[in-house]
Amino acid sequence: MKNAGLILLAVLVLFSGTAAAAKDELVVYSARKEHLIKDLFEKYEKEHGVKIKYITGKAAVLLQRILSEEENTNADILLTVDAGNLWHAAEKGVLSPVDSKVLSANIPSHYKDPANFWFGLSVRARTIVYNTHKVAKKDLSSYEALSGPPWKNRLVLRTSKKVYNQSLVAMLIAAQGEENTKEILDGWVSNLAAPPYSSDTKVLEAIAAGQGDVGIVNTYYYGRLMKKNPELPLGIFWADQGEADKGVHVNVSGAGVVKYSQNRAQAIKFLEWLSAVDAQKIFADANMEYPVNKAVTPHSYVQGWGDFKESTLNLAEAGRLQAQAIKLMDMAGYK
Ligand code: FE
Repeated sequence: MKNAGLILLAVLVLFSGTAAAAKDELVVYSARKEHLIKDLFEKYEKEHGVKIKYITGKAAVLLQRILSEEENTNADILLTVDAGNLWHAAEKGVLSPVDSKVLSANIPSHYKDPANFWFGLSVRARTIVYNTHKVAKKDLSSYEALSGPPWKNRLVLRTSKKVYNQSLVAMLIAAQGEENTKEILDGWVSNLAAPPYSSDTKVLEAIAAGQGDVGIVNTYYYGRLMKKNPELPLGIFWADQGEADKGVHVNVSGAGVVKYSQNRAQAIKFLEWLSAVDAQKIFADANMEYPVNKAVTPHSYVQGWGDFKESTLNLAEAGRLQAQAIKLMDMAGYK
């Protein structure tokens, strides 16, 4: 009993310590990797005197952790990748809406939740890549066109288990309807040069090695690989540029304030800072992504890939239609 008393005392001290420090400390659960956030968080600490603590992990694991911790969670902010994951976190009730003029001004509306539960902080473009020795640019046009006969045994895709592809397909459903999307998926599957790969990088390597001619990846993976090996015969093609209401499929990494945050005002200030010019530059450049804040230009290396028109459908659709997307991919035999 004596020991139990001591433990209780220790726990009380720990908790009162946390409460006292609450004003000058934020806790971020981040599915964005440490090397992409560390410098930025340190910059905020220096500028604002607020300690940023963080843990990193897979999106689903972090969400599950907040769900199980409930009101005892230390998390103030959930930072994660893909609108599908952000939508899911909001749907599970772990985020609270934020009404902020700064966030509304800095972040275009299609990058954020219509009800303000989450906000995109960097943009990733998921578009077509091709083997420059085997494909001419003029032969490429849209995601849909890759389902046609000219691409038989030439298409390379990442697994349908990855949320990036689930979001891409969900946004195709939003733009083109379920039936049309099902036809696209059937065509993609029948055109595959190899079973789907486990990563975007493997898709790129397969295309470079001539195992397939064309594929779909996030451009920062292309950037990483080309920086290491600029000789690879790989090119980026901006999909869906032809029609007025279409454009490249973009997604975001982003964040929301955790419902049980004890430090909500400070958490909102931090998100506002992340959406502003200085932080946006660092946040996007760290991963060769695009800033959400249109006052900020992408890194010159990224700009070298050229300008493109993006789809401006609200990314909440990626979450809302995710289950339907998974169902269609399953029906099409897209593994
Ligand atoms: Fe990624």
